[in-house]
Amino acid sequence: MKTKLAKLIFKDVTGANESNRVSYIVRINSLMMCIYFLIWISVFGISARYINTAICFVGLTAYAFSTYLTYRNKNIAALFLYSAVTVIWMFRFVIQWGWECGIQHFVFVLLVLVFVATYRSMKEKILASIGVFCIRMLLYMWHITNEPLETLPKPMSVTFQIINIVSIFLSLIVILTIFTRDKLATEAKLAQYNRQLKVVAEHDHLTGLLNRRSGMSDMVSKIMGGSFSTGMSIAIGDIDLFKKVNDTYGHEAGDEVLKSLAKLFDDFMTQYGEAIRWGGEEFVFVFDDMNLDDAFVALDGLRLKISTLEIYWKDIKIPVTMTFGVTDVNVMVSASDTELDISNRIEQAIDDADKKLYMGKESGRNKVVI
Ligand code: GH3
Ligand code: MG
Ligand code: MG
Repeated sequence: MKTKLAKLIFKDVTGANESNRVSYIVRINSLMMCIYFLIWISVFGISARYINTAICFVGLTAYAFSTYLTYRNKNIAALFLYSAVTVIWMFRFVIQWGWECGIQHFVFVLLVLVFVATYRSMKEKILASIGVFCIRMLLYMWHITNEPLETLPKPMSVTFQIINIVSIFLSLIVILTIFTRDKLATEAKLAQYNRQLKVVAEHDHLTGLLNRRSGMSDMVSKIMGGSFSTGMSIAIGDIDLFKKVNDTYGHEAGDEVLKSLAKLFDDFMTQYGEAIRWGGEEFVFVFDDMNLDDAFVALDGLRLKISTLEIYWKDIKIPVTMTFGVTDVNVMVSASDTELDISNRIEQAIDDADKKLYMGKESGRNKVVI
């Protein structure tokens, strides 16, 4: 029963990207006003005030219709109806029973609704709140210039005050709870979305490896961080005769080769540093705090692993080898070095490694040139 009611109240009628805040706030407030009017119908019914009972019945119907509108995703119409009935109701109470009944405080519910239950521009919200202010002033002017039609007996006045105060507080609490909850949920969604965007922006979409730009900035910040005592070695590797793989088995098979290799690089480089997809079928390997000789040995191990890697495309084994050029980078950072200087230094090292790679290609491929 409880969950059914919650489901009905929080029924989502908006599109996937829209917030449900407006529907929930207007819906729950309209529903609460229905209950509020049911209470009045009982109070007036018991005290045999049949005209008032009938008026309350009209109010109840209007609020019920406003609730219904939120299920048709007509939130603004629902909010408008809600506000109009509330304003009429406030005037009716003040004219009949005066300031003592406490109904005039409902304007604060309207004021808060204007700000949190619409997605209008700030200018429109301020204009609407000026409207609410005028209503409140009008009510007050009426109160100071006119006597109420009826003087409330003390017990009735206390009943009026209590029902109104409780209703106003409940309305405000509901509005602010949903608003805060919605804001927190939106912030969490945004933070998650930003994290996803960051991952997408920093990684190559085919292989999942770091892309060239983020790989470069990673190297620069590592060197700027000055945490290396031995130095840093950088290698560039290129798949041998990759064009032939595409030509023989198709581009999709080529992509599969790139993905399988990337997985191997990622696993292999975890203990050394980072593998970066530099572009096309070229990859850069960063060996943190490792001298050139050690990087050469590690890289030759990787070269062997590649040549024995079993890559299948539609049950056909695709043999792959790679050629590498490896060099070391000066990691000494002086106070005058800027990020651009370090980045230029890395580019130069990669150029140097690329020349060695070219030599490797010229001299038969499937090798590491130091
Ligand atoms: P070499 O041993 O001299 O490097 O020969 P190669 O055939 O590998 O060199 P080449 O530069 O002639 O060809 C590289 C090929 O890599 C051509 C291009 O279509 C392919 N390639 C680059 N990026 C991708 C990709 O993302 N997917 C696929 N399937 N192929 C790619
Ligand atoms: Mg190439
Ligand atoms: Mg190649």
